[in-house]
Order: sequence, then structure tokens, then C-alpha cells
Amino acid sequence: MRVEVGGVPYEVVIGLEVHAQLATRTKLFCGCPTEYGAAPNTQICPVCLGLPGALPVPNARALELAARAGFALGCDVRPRSVFARKSYFYPDLAKGYQISQLDEPLNLGGEVRFSVESGSGLREERRVRLTRIHVEEDAAKSTHAGGRTVVDFNRAGTPLIEIVSEPELRSGAEAEAYLKALREVLMFAGVNDGNLEQGSFRCDANVSIRPEGQEAFGTRVELKNLNSFRFVRLAIEGEARRQALLLESGEAVRQETRGWDEGRQSTYPLRSKEEAEDYRYFPDPDLPPVVFDEATLAAYRGATPELATARRARWQAELGLTEYDAGVLTGHPEVASYFEQVASGLASRATLGLAVAGKKAANFVQAEILGYVEAAGLEATFPAPAAEIAALLALVEAGTINGKIAKEVFATMRANGEGAEVIVAREGLAQVTDSGAIEAVVDEVLAASAAQVAQYRAGKTAVIGYFVGQVMKATKGRASPAEVQAALRRKLD
Ligand SMILES: [Zn+2]
Repeated sequence: MRVEVGGVPYEVVIGLEVHAQLATRTKLFCGCPTEYGAAPNTQICPVCLGLPGALPVPNARALELAARAGFALGCDVRPRSVFARKSYFYPDLAKGYQISQLDEPLNLGGEVRFSVESGSGLREERRVRLTRIHVEEDAAKSTHAGGRTVVDFNRAGTPLIEIVSEPELRSGAEAEAYLKALREVLMFAGVNDGNLEQGSFRCDANVSIRPEGQEAFGTRVELKNLNSFRFVRLAIEGEARRQALLLESGEAVRQETRGWDEGRQSTYPLRSKEEAEDYRYFPDPDLPPVVFDEATLAAYRGATPELATARRARWQAELGLTEYDAGVLTGHPEVASYFEQVASGLASRATLGLAVAGKKAANFVQAEILGYVEAAGLEATFPAPAAEIAALLALVEAGTINGKIAKEVFATMRANGEGAEVIVAREGLAQVTDSGAIEAVVDEVLAASAAQVAQYRAGKTAVIGYFVGQVMKATKGRASPAEVQAALRRKLD
């Protein structure tokens, strides 16, 4: 994105700070639950209320997830990091400081890769470097209403990682694509549940503008509380235009923190931005440095699951899925795993090649399963176990049931949780391919249709369709149509 000041093209410079909640059951320095939605101030204790004398105890699982986020994003995960106190005074911070990391963060470097539509309509591959990822505790939640401020401390002390990018983004659209890619990596790594509505993935954006070609940065403004991907894009674009207008009219951009007003489609001032020295950081004397030995770090590195980008590429290459199908099936980590279980289960049950089984599984999961999937955070529930869907598709593959019957069986599976084979056996849904059994039904139909038999023998052979219909009706659609045709011709000709 470009703006103009006095006819001179300016580029927009954006760095993002994402706060992602680590998917732990308990808080960073106490045992209080992190579960969302509880009544205000019911998930609190002396530690997260900052009462005098209360001592923090680090949550080992939170530190593990933070390290795994580092590996998933290609960071240098440090064997030693240090918690520091960041002092500031707001009602949402009972201690008067937040425990964070400054000089020695857990993760350094790393990158986020994404693709974004360029001006010419083509997709361009981008990679944006990360400065660092550090661990910190969340503040409480303040609500301002009717001239009063009320504070809910349930969120205070929730474990977060702050992912700080280099100022390498150049448009609101790039920022949006970066955030989607980052969220996907964190979700597939099992680190963050990606829930923007509940605030477990939040973004602040630092925005400045400078004449194209100039190296020095302009004065940056921090945009806060951008709670949707769309708002991030719109707020950045609106803020860049505001800064250009200021410079155009000869005014200076002030370093400050601003919010996004969706109704007015413009940013508004929140407070003047603190300088780092205002925070008076110093190492927290209550907390020892975080130290990981080599074996622990190697185990975390090895535990990084296959991420969505890698899975899409592999499915396209090995299973021949389209880019679109691979994208839909990586919409949630649990959906991706489910699809893979259906595909491999079908391949082994029906002794199919993985590519053939993969396509059939992809079609069924997209057409029949996704509508019933309910995802909550990193968890998802499915209408039937993947192994049972593989069994159902294998029955179709073996010719035991046809596609139409498969949908009926699937409906029963959803309704009572039974397996496909159990339902087919109990309800006698298997296709009748036994020629003796089919001949018996054909005999009955012909005996009851003397007039039509006479027409057929008089040369009106099209009437065979009538007989086929009668046989299918008598077998409730389960007779093999090819067998029925053959039996009819044997009897009539
Ligand atoms: Zn607590």
C-alpha cells in the first residue's frame, strides 16, 4: 500500500505484536484455571491478585508450549531466559507490574511465511522475520461503563506469548495474511486455540509512513485492541491515510496509542505511548531463570507436529488433492487429522492406493462430515469416529452397499453411534448379488405381470425397465441392477 504526501509516494511500515494465549489449563504462576466464561473474579488467588507475600511458581507446561511455538516458527529457542518486572499503574494490574521478559526472552528470530495477492492479481510468497517471542502474564479485564470501571481478575496471570515481528509488512492486506498464517501455525502446533472472539489471539500494530527509498523510520503509532483480521487491515489502512493527511497539512505524527472506531472507520487516541524506560524493567527477584537442558529442547523440537502448509503440499503431491480441497481440510488441526485417518483407514481396509482412497475420503469428509463438525478451540467433535467412516466407505468400495444406501447408513451412525458394518448387517442393507435370490424375485415379478410379459414377447422390449423397477422395489433397492437385467433376459428371451 502507498500513500502520497505532497505528490511524493510514501510507503507504509508495519510491525505486529501478537499476544497468543498458551493452551494450558492453569495460569502462568498459580494453579487458578484459565477456562473462559466463568463468573467474574471466581478464578483468582493471592498470587494472581498480587497480594503481599504471595510467591509465583512457573507453569512448566506453559514454558513447554512457548518453546514449541518457537520451534514451529523457526526461532532460536534459548536454553536460558529470564523473567522481568514491567512496571506500570493501571487498575488491571494488581501488583503494579507485569511479569514479562525483556533482555533475555525465550525465543529469538524465526519467521512467518504466507502468500498474499499482489497488485497484478497473482499470489506472491512472502516471509516476514520475527524479532522475538517472549513469555508473559496477561492483565485483568477492565470494563468501562456508566462512568465506572469494573475489573475482572479471572484473566490476570493467564500465560501468553508475545510474538514481535520486524517492521517488514507493507500493507493492511499483508498484515491480515501474516496473522492468518501465524494463527494457523500456532493452532497446528497445539500452542494456541486461535480464538479471536475470546481474546486468546490478539494483535497490536505499529504503523508509520516514510518517503519511498528513505531508510529512517517515521514516527510510529501503536494500534491496539484490533479484534478481527478485517479490523487489522482496515485500521492499518485508515491510520496510514491519517498520518499522510497530517504530514500533508504540515503537522507532525505524534507517538501514541490509538484504537479503531469501526463506526467512523477511523482511529482515535487512547493514550500517549510510554517509552521503554517508563516501564523500569528489572529481573524478577522471585523467579529463577528458565533453564532448559539440551535433551528437553530436543524433545520439544521433535514433538512439533506436521504443520498445515506441509500437509497441504504433501496431500497435493501424494494424494492429488486440489489446492482448494487441501485448504478446506486444513481448516482446523483436528479436521486435518480426521481426514488422514479416514484416508489411511480406507486404503488399508479396501486395499486401495493412498491417492484413490485419499480422493474418496476427501470427497466424503467435505460433502458429508464437515457440516456436523463442532470446533471449540483446539478441540473438535465429529459425527462418527474416523475409523467407522473408513469402514463405511470400504463397504461401498467392496460393492456391499451403494452410495445412496451409504448415506442412509451414515444417518443411522449419527443417530445412534453404531458402526457401519453393524447397521448394514442388522438392517439387511447389503446389495443382493446372489443370482439365485434375484431369480426368485424375478420369477415372482414376471408371474404377477402377465400383460407386460406378453407386450415384451410381442417385441416391445422397452418394457424391461418396468420389470427392473418392480424387482428393485421388491428388494428395497438392494439388488444389483446388473444381476437383475441379466436374470430378466435369461427368463424372457
Ligand atoms: Zn491465581
